[in-house]
Amino acid sequence: MAAGSLPRVVFVLGPPGSGKGTICALVSKVFPYAHLSAGSLLRASRCEAVQRRLRNGDIVSSHITIDILTEEMRSLGAWGGSPHPRVSVSPCLRGFLLDGFPRNPENAWSWELDAGRRTETQFVLSLECSAKESLSRCLSRSLGSSARSDDEIDIITKRLALFERETRPVLDMFHERGLLKRVDSSRPTVEVFADVTRIFEEEG
Ligand code: UDP
Ligand code: MG
Repeated sequence: MAAGSLPRVVFVLGPPGSGKGTICALVSKVFPYAHLSAGSLLRASRCEAVQRRLRNGDIVSSHITIDILTEEMRSLGAWGGSPHPRVSVSPCLRGFLLDGFPRNPENAWSWELDAGRRTETQFVLSLECSAKESLSRCLSRSLGSSARSDDEIDIITKRLALFERETRPVLDMFHERGLLKRVDSSRPTVEVFADVTRIFEEEG
């Protein structure tokens, strides 16, 4: 992380199954950004209350998610010091892709009052696909090796509804601030990634 500058953050949002994880993994291979999936980090939590919320498709308290994300960023050298010896980080790491966060306006405000003061929100990537596509992708994921306990039809439907009700206002808020970059993610991954690559090249 360059000395004297704030670590950059790109929020990556979209309905369940919109390809956030896939696209972030590709971006982090090509650009100097570390990929942090809020959902995966929460799934690794040993806290039973967190696990219960995940199983039900509910949103975890902001302070828990923010603590986990910022701890991970710190261990990757976001705010100076040397990165944790266990992790290999490029010395020219430019920023962080926060995949699946902020989930609701309260997540967003809490971030701003806390880590937002120590980071620069570079832009917000919105991966857009229809509810029908989203549902069918999650259902096919549930049949494969990457099956998750929350990829079950009732829970996916609930997560989709939560996305519309809770996350949509977050996207509107970033749009008003001129930070939103929209990409149609209902297309094949190579096409989506080509558009995303262009955005990262433009935003430097
Ligand atoms: N989650 C949360 N806060 C976050 C991100 C995720 O509470 O900031 C929880 C929530 O229960 C969500 C689950 O983690 O349903 C899975 O999130 P993930 O982003 O992995 O799911 P995706 O949208 O990629 O299917
Ligand atoms: Mg994901």
